[in-house]
Amino acid sequence: MNALEILTDMSRVKPYYQAIFSADSHMIIGYEVLARIETEDGVKSLGPFFHDPTVPIEFSLKVDDYVQTTALEYLLQNGEKTLLFINVNVNHILIDQDDDLMSRLITFRQKGLDLSQIVIEVTEHNVMGDMIKVATLCKNLKSMGVKIAIDDVGIGASNLDRIAMLEPDILKVDIHALKNQEHSTSYDGVLYSLALLSRKIGAELLFEAIEDSDQFHYSWNNNGRYYQGYFLAKPHHSFLEKNMFKDRFKKDIYEFILLERKKYQSEYGLSSQLNNQLETLIKGISFDQDSDRWMIKIAEHLASYCMRVYVTDDHGYQISSNAIKNNDSWMLNSDYKGRNWSWRPFFIENLVRMDEESRGILSDIYSDIETGEAVQTFSYRVADSSYLFIDIRVNQ
Ligand code: CA
Repeated sequence: MNALEILTDMSRVKPYYQAIFSADSHMIIGYEVLARIETEDGVKSLGPFFHDPTVPIEFSLKVDDYVQTTALEYLLQNGEKTLLFINVNVNHILIDQDDDLMSRLITFRQKGLDLSQIVIEVTEHNVMGDMIKVATLCKNLKSMGVKIAIDDVGIGASNLDRIAMLEPDILKVDIHALKNQEHSTSYDGVLYSLALLSRKIGAELLFEAIEDSDQFHYSWNNNGRYYQGYFLAKPHHSFLEKNMFKDRFKKDIYEFILLERKKYQSEYGLSSQLNNQLETLIKGISFDQDSDRWMIKIAEHLASYCMRVYVTDDHGYQISSNAIKNNDSWMLNSDYKGRNWSWRPFFIENLVRMDEESRGILSDIYSDIETGEAVQTFSYRVADSSYLFIDIRVNQ
């Protein structure tokens, strides 16, 4: 179907609504408006039409106008207190002298629509014009009560500064696209940074394109407040009953909570086991200033998942070599002796915690700089101003 055929019979163009769920209420809290066309072969997405570079901008603006107006009209008539997520192409708006989006919203406000129900989705990474203009547009929309969501965060060349500049209420992360990128611990890192960023700027994370239970679990695990995707609900020609999936949602989340609890219980188990073991060991083999010799004596009693051991002082300077497990024996490597580790995340905080709480601390899982393996570090105060660090292989 070519662009002209679409334009000549606009009655076949329909907005479809894909439900968005909330982690806290388990209910549908909104819908993303998606353009569809009814054909002899069934309902088709208009995505290819909008992404076709040979389609003149005026054509796609016209279809966009039609879909948006129809959806806004539906929201107004329906009376449902739900959010409506509308995709806009910022590049089109920046060249649109008449500012159709703004005037359309004002018209609907006059008709009685509460604009705080509207979320405008903008894509930050493909903005061709001036970001200041986009930021101004977002500011103007927000002053009318409209919310701003940034689409496709985490794929393409997203720039955290530019995201923050738009002061969004919601960051939309395409979990499917993200997971299809090279699978490595790096996207855990991307999501972790996004979670921190969203917290700092007061935005919520919305995961979209969730296609299976694993992706749903992963999204929940990564601080997703809102969820969208075929796994939960397909785009539909009308709004759905907002409690429709509540029971199923609750059941899934219940499973996630059980798994998460198990994970933390086993971490606490490991941490207390290491605490007890070190307490006993150090009673028998008290710390001496020849830290390498002392450390090897300790290391020989440690379980096989311990791969690297070293000692630092209370300023984070490494006072021992690294003891490294090689097959069944421990080898010393003095390359890192004298290095300072105080710049590492939580380092100083953990030293203080060990002093205050008089027990060792198990870190979160991270990827080792040298080997790329998933590791955790257990740290333990062995004497005044001396701390033992044990790197542990995860999933052994
Ligand atoms: Ca979108």
